[in-house]
Amino acid sequence: MKSLLWPLCLLFVLPLAAVAQSPSRYTISPLAKLPADSLLKTRLLVSLDGFLRDKDHPGQPSVYMDTAYLRGDKMGFEEIVKVENSAKRKDTGFYKVQLQNVIKLKQEETFLIKLGFVGLADGQPVVRMIYSIIGKDRKDRFVFYPARDYVIKDWKQQWVGNIHYLYPYTLDMAAARRFDRFNTTVAGWFGAKPVKLHYYHCSDAQELLRVKGVDYDANASYMRRGDSDKDNDIFMSGVGSPWYGHDLIHFYCDKFLPRPVNRAMEEGLAYYADGGWGESYATCLGILKKYAADHPGEDLYRAFKNNVSVGDISLKFTINALLLEEVIRRQGFPKALEVLKAENNDAGLEQSLHTHFGLTPANFNENIRKRLIAS
Ligand SMILES: [Zn+2]
Repeated sequence: MKSLLWPLCLLFVLPLAAVAQSPSRYTISPLAKLPADSLLKTRLLVSLDGFLRDKDHPGQPSVYMDTAYLRGDKMGFEEIVKVENSAKRKDTGFYKVQLQNVIKLKQEETFLIKLGFVGLADGQPVVRMIYSIIGKDRKDRFVFYPARDYVIKDWKQQWVGNIHYLYPYTLDMAAARRFDRFNTTVAGWFGAKPVKLHYYHCSDAQELLRVKGVDYDANASYMRRGDSDKDNDIFMSGVGSPWYGHDLIHFYCDKFLPRPVNRAMEEGLAYYADGGWGESYATCLGILKKYAADHPGEDLYRAFKNNVSVGDISLKFTINALLLEEVIRRQGFPKALEVLKAENNDAGLEQSLHTHFGLTPANFNENIRKRLIAS
């Protein structure tokens, strides 16, 4: 009996061991400290290989992910979907995965796993991303989770009206109450009930990325950012405030408006409601007026078409906000939302401008300058 069983066992163990020594989808950093238990280590390395295969197909079943959990966190692993691709170098596998470390956590059978996505150009390593995932040992395999719950494990929580704030330090209650009231107002604009939002109150874009598992992203040099999951009413703010009116407009548009929606016009509504890049709508409008006054001979359609910005402020979105402001004042929000309903491209925007405002490239400059003087 014994002699028959042993070769059979080896049949099952050997392929695992072979994969463990040469995982196909990643290399292992010489500095990585892997679990001492060789069976556990093999399970981890084999499972990680399967996870890296499946990560590029979110929503598809995978034995290495908890699909029920991911239904409640649609952002899940989105930051590493096809992150190996370099558009610049036209190479879908330019950035190679490297397992950098495996860190045992306090919770039983749970590990923090660090992955690097690194390319090689002219002999120089190019780091695209350093990313964290959580691995849980299920005895037959590892299942991997986004790092979110681990990163925010010591955060505080508080409901303010309909807003469930999750925050690491302190909560500005006056701003939180103002945002809750704004949420109710915006819901009214969309003819909806106020959404009960889970608001991840991050200090800046870098902290928001860490909540999403990203320890380092070569493309993320900015300070402000928002993200959301409209199906689970998750709202992430990387602006260091419980107030983020601009992105709340995008959230409601995503959740309640049927497609297509013209994004440039949606930006106009967000500018109207809360300005852009931390500047109020009044400031944005002031910037546009100054630009028009400083460039009397310029056709504003050119600035609009080329999406000219002054600092971070987009003149195009400010013009869209100005147009929407008049619609809202005269005909109310339902009509303004009609203006957003156009294909999400230049042709869709031009069609919407023509249908709702009678604007053409030929009369645009004169019309907008008149509106600016009147506003
Ligand atoms: Zn925006």
